[in-house]
Amino acid sequence: MTEPNIGQKPFSIDPSKRRYFIKKIREWGKSNLKNYPWREEKNLFRLLLTEIFLQKTDSLKIKNIYPLLKQIETPFDILNREDILDHIVSRTGLSYKKGRILRLSRQIVDSFNGKLPGNYSDLVRLTGVGDYIANAVMAFGYEEKAAVVDTNTIRIVQSFFGYCSSKKRARDDRRMNEIILWILPCRQYTVFSYYLLDFGADVCVSSKRLCHECVLKRKCAYYETAKTR
Ligand code: SF4
Repeated sequence: MTEPNIGQKPFSIDPSKRRYFIKKIREWGKSNLKNYPWREEKNLFRLLLTEIFLQKTDSLKIKNIYPLLKQIETPFDILNREDILDHIVSRTGLSYKKGRILRLSRQIVDSFNGKLPGNYSDLVRLTGVGDYIANAVMAFGYEEKAAVVDTNTIRIVQSFFGYCSSKKRARDDRRMNEIILWILPCRQYTVFSYYLLDFGADVCVSSKRLCHECVLKRKCAYYETAKTR
């Protein structure tokens, strides 16, 4: 696999470090993968809705209202059964998302005959769908190799590989995107992205990194620096 072209600023990842990372995250992930119902989801429109809700609320809340989400199969259900959407947004405290979800559903019905588009460029043009959600749907729904760039994956890349983005928002950094794509394994990358999200939520945590018990510490740039401080 070709190393990412990460521009003029010299930053490269030792391929052996990448292999170590993949091996360790895989081992960790096999015993720690979280069991959320949307991770088994085959309905892509429901998966999109779930990602939209997850962006602004915690996973437990979405897990609790998942039986409600299960009543929605297509954008037509949103347009015909607004009461279900009302119930979901009031239970999650996300009432402001209602209008966007109605517009999004209308867009999918009008422009794609009610079927969720299967490519990044169409997805990202939908109302309320940004870069993260479009990539998450491509990665988790269509099982394409896509960079799931969120606060967790960014923190892991910054910590372990030592890449510091010069952008104000690291998620807007094209290089960050390329690195996250590059560190995915060649096979089983969908589940690997889930491992990364869970690892960032449980071990390489923003409030307190659990370095002493971390499987990556032997080669982690952040841990190396912290030791010498
Ligand atoms: S050693 Fe610490 S900083 Fe490095 S990946 Fe693990 S938890 Fe994160």
